[in-house]
Amino acid sequence: MIRIGLGYDLHRLVEGRRLMLGGVQIPHDKGEDAHSDGDVLLHAITDALLGAAALGDIGELFPPSDMRWKNADSAALLGTAYERVLREGWKIVNLDCVIAIEKPKLLPYRTSIRESISSILHIPLDAVFIKAKTGEQLGPIGEQQAVEVWANCLLER
Ligand code: MG
Repeated sequence: MIRIGLGYDLHRLVEGRRLMLGGVQIPHDKGEDAHSDGDVLLHAITDALLGAAALGDIGELFPPSDMRWKNADSAALLGTAYERVLREGWKIVNLDCVIAIEKPKLLPYRTSIRESISSILHIPLDAVFIKAKTGEQLGPIGEQQAVEVWANCLLER
């Protein structure tokens, strides 16, 4: 059996925060405003996995109101979520993600980000792909106020 999952997340970009994408810190003058480390890509992937396995969503598993998740390491949250998915007998076939961000250009970091996700989940590098799109200077993405991610995953068991 196979199952598809879709995850989405958006964070405000503010000065004085680190820009975290897929567990990699990207050099930039703004980062995600968040209760956790704000890793918008890992959050979207977490939701894609949980959704595909019908196991709830990130907000349910790790409520922002719970102090345990303050400045939480999103890689650890994703790992915990994937353990639940694995426990139900599912495993990842592949992940494919789109990051909408005006700046910086992410192509130079693509391989590091893919490697990081592949190592968090213990899945092959070619099972993880990401690409970046700008907002064409339009709206909150284009005006560098936010970063947005869509993540698709395929599970099989
Ligand atoms: Mg988030």
